[in-house]
Amino acid sequence: MAITPNENNFFADVCKNFDEAARFTSHPEGLLNQIKACNSVYRFQFPVRRGNGLEVVDAWRVEHSHHMSPTKGGIRYSEMVNEDEVMALAALMTYKCAIVNVPFGGAKGGVKINTKQYSVAELETITRRYTVELIKKNFIGPGIDVPAPDYGSGEREMSWIADTYMTMNPGQLDALGCVTGKPIALHGIRGRKEATGRGVAYAVRECMGVGEDMKRIGLTPGLDGKRVIVQGLGNVGYHSAKFLTEFGATLVGICEFEGAIYDANGLNVDEVFAHRKNTGSIADFPGAKTFKNSMEGLEQDCDILVPAALENQITVHNVQNIKAKVIAEGANGPTSPEAGAIFTERGGMIIPDMYCNAGGVTVSYFEWLKNLSHVAFGRMENRYAANSNANLINTLENLTGKTILPEHRMMIVKGASELELVNSGLEDTMIHSYHEIRETMVHTPEIKTLRTAAFVNSIDKIAVSYMTLGVWP
Ligand code: NAD
Repeated sequence: MAITPNENNFFADVCKNFDEAARFTSHPEGLLNQIKACNSVYRFQFPVRRGNGLEVVDAWRVEHSHHMSPTKGGIRYSEMVNEDEVMALAALMTYKCAIVNVPFGGAKGGVKINTKQYSVAELETITRRYTVELIKKNFIGPGIDVPAPDYGSGEREMSWIADTYMTMNPGQLDALGCVTGKPIALHGIRGRKEATGRGVAYAVRECMGVGEDMKRIGLTPGLDGKRVIVQGLGNVGYHSAKFLTEFGATLVGICEFEGAIYDANGLNVDEVFAHRKNTGSIADFPGAKTFKNSMEGLEQDCDILVPAALENQITVHNVQNIKAKVIAEGANGPTSPEAGAIFTERGGMIIPDMYCNAGGVTVSYFEWLKNLSHVAFGRMENRYAANSNANLINTLENLTGKTILPEHRMMIVKGASELELVNSGLEDTMIHSYHEIRETMVHTPEIKTLRTAAFVNSIDKIAVSYMTLGVWP
């Protein structure tokens, strides 16, 4: 049985983590309270036609912090979504954006439906109606609030949102910047779909690369051969597994809501994905052991556990059974504060959600910049760089009389594509932010976790924005 997200404690848990970190800052209590508070909570309901009748859908958009504009955050489609959860996720977005130096306030949306029970046409109607409700209340716009995908939503929903917004704002030049995570054809950006998982892999690689930290928790440095279990084979989970294995780790376990599989010899995530598509389940994947109880999968032998499904998955009820030494939080809020404390006390390390899964918002920021500048990254300079690099190589060959191998020439000459620029911007962000967080932890020995250090950095940055904006004396 999967543990369901807790109904009403998620926002309190985020605030608990905030308060723990605030002790290490010197900001006045009033300012800390302002940073913590959810600035706007919009709860609404709207009808959708189903069969011969009408059904009322509950929905939310929360803008947690207006210290920066626009606000930014995904929209979750889930029958379990509730106001507390959307507030918590919006708050995490604020702290996340500050951590990775993305100039947005945090926001989040929620649509309380089980997507599996609706046709594509009904999902489109719901998404378009949700967007209209946001437009009516000024809760969406390239300079106001910019949604993105989250659990249960993806490129398709983002394109419906963009289309609805553009229809209702004819002639608005920057209208496409009203939402990110769009398909490429609608001026989305290459690399956005896989950005969160790719970012998780960079985060884990950075963490595992610090020899003294790995020694402290009883692991050898580096990702090579490290055993990974991933929970959730959705966008974040699939791409985390894919890139972690590309970087040298071995995927040994996958947990989905229908069960879990484990193979100490390694799993190929694409083969598991195909097996699930064909059979409707990850269960009975050839060569792997199947667990009917999905949560048992989290407790199998591994070095790194990547919860990438939902919040509140590692709690006081199961943390003692977790064998991993590192938890890399692909999902938002997968570890309760109490479980986190027990895990750290036991010598484990948690790469916190607000940093670990920030790759998505980082690349969403690039997409927003692309939409505002109305030109794809690399489009103007790609050919120019290739030509001048070729000229340079030709000159060197003429001067030295030596010829460079064709494959080396190709590598040196080519200009950077949009995808390469996006990935390098993402990699740089994840590397830089990791070491910024770790530095804070190393310099204040009382700070015991990367999460507290991340919150400290984040609070400090947001506090400065409030002061420079004159919002606070
Ligand atoms: P998704 O809908 O693409 O995938 C989620 C997967 O988790 C699904 O395959 C679902 O079946 C599975 N799942 C649900 N309940 C489960 C359970 N109890 N046990 C095992 N598996 C379960 O969603 P996503 O976009 O990958 O988001 C996953 C998490 O990552 C969420 O917490 C989300 O807030 C966070 N996140 C997503 C992004 C993004 O860019 N999509 C960015 C940052 C954080």
